[in-house]
Amino acid sequence: MLDNMKFYDFIHKQILVFIIINLSTAPGYLLIGYFYSSMYIEMLWFVAVLLISLWGYRLRINYLKNDMDVKEKEVWLTKTKFYLFFSSYVWTFMFVVYALQDKIELHYISLVTQIGISVVAATLLSSQKRLAIFTVVNLMFPVLVYFILIDQTYAYLLAFFSIVLSAVLLYSSTNTFKYLYKSQYQAYHDRLTSLGNRRYFIEFLENTIKRLKSKGGFSFFLLIDLDHFKTINDSLGHDVGDMLLIEVSSRMKKLAAQNNSIVLRLGGDEFSIISGIFDDRKKCLKAALSLSQELLEVIKQNYNVEENSLFISASIGVTVLNDIEVNATQFIKEADIAMYEAKHQGRDGIIIFNKELSKKVELKLEIERLLRFSLENNEISLRFQPQINSDNTKSCEVLVRWNNLKLGFIPPDVFIPIAEQTGYIIELGYYILEESFKTLREWDEKGIEFKKMSINISILQMLNVGFIDDVKALIEKYLTSRQISKVIFEITETSLAQSVEELIVNMRALKELGINFSLDDFGTGYSSLSYLSKLPISELKIDKSFIDELRLTQDGTIVRTILDIAKNMKLEVVAEGVEEEFEKNYLIENNCDILQGYYFSMPITKEEFENYFPSSIRKI
Ligand code: C2E
Ligand code: CA
Ligand code: CA
Repeated sequence: MLDNMKFYDFIHKQILVFIIINLSTAPGYLLIGYFYSSMYIEMLWFVAVLLISLWGYRLRINYLKNDMDVKEKEVWLTKTKFYLFFSSYVWTFMFVVYALQDKIELHYISLVTQIGISVVAATLLSSQKRLAIFTVVNLMFPVLVYFILIDQTYAYLLAFFSIVLSAVLLYSSTNTFKYLYKSQYQAYHDRLTSLGNRRYFIEFLENTIKRLKSKGGFSFFLLIDLDHFKTINDSLGHDVGDMLLIEVSSRMKKLAAQNNSIVLRLGGDEFSIISGIFDDRKKCLKAALSLSQELLEVIKQNYNVEENSLFISASIGVTVLNDIEVNATQFIKEADIAMYEAKHQGRDGIIIFNKELSKKVELKLEIERLLRFSLENNEISLRFQPQINSDNTKSCEVLVRWNNLKLGFIPPDVFIPIAEQTGYIIELGYYILEESFKTLREWDEKGIEFKKMSINISILQMLNVGFIDDVKALIEKYLTSRQISKVIFEITETSLAQSVEELIVNMRALKELGINFSLDDFGTGYSSLSYLSKLPISELKIDKSFIDELRLTQDGTIVRTILDIAKNMKLEVVAEGVEEEFEKNYLIENNCDILQGYYFSMPITKEEFENYFPSSIRKI
């Protein structure tokens, strides 16, 4: 459409102007014919002008239907150029006819006609540089010849003037062209990479969809987002980031060109590719996948930018455009959903949009929306899962529950990550903490025997600015120092990847307040052992997956190794997800300190926990 800056839109408007100029002035020549000439020739010429105008009208209608692809537009443009040329050139016929007559009035008319149409052509055709030059030269040439043929001094002077006039017309026309080109180019292109920009993208996409709607067929549309580009930008500076973007664009451009597709930059590190048209959905999808695959590989190849050897990957969302769904925003949304899913699944991947994905995203949005009201609607409650200590006393882990009127029960591993993404976790976490502290005090005051209470704390909560003050205030409000010593905060190992130093500072501050720490889901994250020794923790929780494995394979090597590590580091160990007698026995034999799981109890209510008495698990 906008490709190669053909100014289709400009030129289609000029068709109308030419029709108006021709049809409004041409009848005047019938009058001139009636008074000064023969009339027949003017009538014949007038019919020719009418026919040419009709041709122009049809070209304009075709354009306004707006269902042409790039190739068809090129054909249309060629036809339109012929039309414009003829509708200017038709005046030269009258020029020649009148110039050959004896009456001097007709000569005046012929000269004004020809010079007038030259000015019109130079002005209106400026968006088509070559056409404008060609037409102006062709129109001014007969005028020049006319003056030369007079063979008089004054006429040679007039011939010279007409050359000057031609030059001025050509100059102003090409100048306008340059200006148009520049402003049009800048409006539709990205300065850094010279790729089409978001505006270009939207118009191109809408055009493709219109064309699919009227003629059928399929196109694909890829949304490409670089992974962790921000890190490069932040650590190596924007200049390096810019150069990387230029190189990535040029690699993509090359591949896309081979595949008859076009690359656009939507902003930042987000790009899009829109394909040509396929008649078959399967072929279209296959082409989309193979291009995506090639893109991932090409993008992943090494970059040398200012002595930096860089590596970057991308996540690609794919959606197929078809003739049934007709909305550009809808397709953008779909590709966006697919791209985010690719990111979510560990980046450096390709995801094709499908309806299930869309349902998943809609549900997520619904959860996000409803979660915000969960506290004020009293939908959040706490459960306590008993933990059995080696001395047969009980402890517990606090687990949050959300029961929504519309969605029903939503498990915490679904809504906690969403709460983390939206920031709601801060409010929610505060509530959980306060309720837990209240319960702890209540139990302690009622004389209920229990050793420890573990509370899950999200890393976002831990790193939140006001967290330590909040905890301090809650402790002052609810707990005695003896009660505080029962509190354990569980942080998950997977979350450690980010901001460890900051985390350790906060952990130390909380430790000062009397709170102990447990490392949850141990074995699933990246923490090295040296790292582990730096954390002020007193407990490890073996991840449930290892206990599951123990059950399935009856091989306890990993579990034993973790127990050994913990013992050497003088940490207590909790095994979670204990479901069967065999696991319990194995863990006890290997001196695991604390056991938790459905074998003993599901997470239960406050009242149930008060009445829960563990059967003896070990003779001490
Ligand atoms: P987690 O901290 O690893 O919690 C253990 C999960 O395993 C709990 O699921 C618990 O009900 C379940 N579980 C316990 N014993 C067994 C067993 O024998 N078999 C099986 N199959 N599962 C068992 P739940 O309550 O659905 O919690 C899931 C995750 O949600 C938790 O994993 C934790 O990461 C998060 N979460 C739960 N409550 C909170 C909370 O209050 N705050 C924060 N930040 N996260 C929470
Ligand atoms: Ca936990
Ligand atoms: Ca866990």
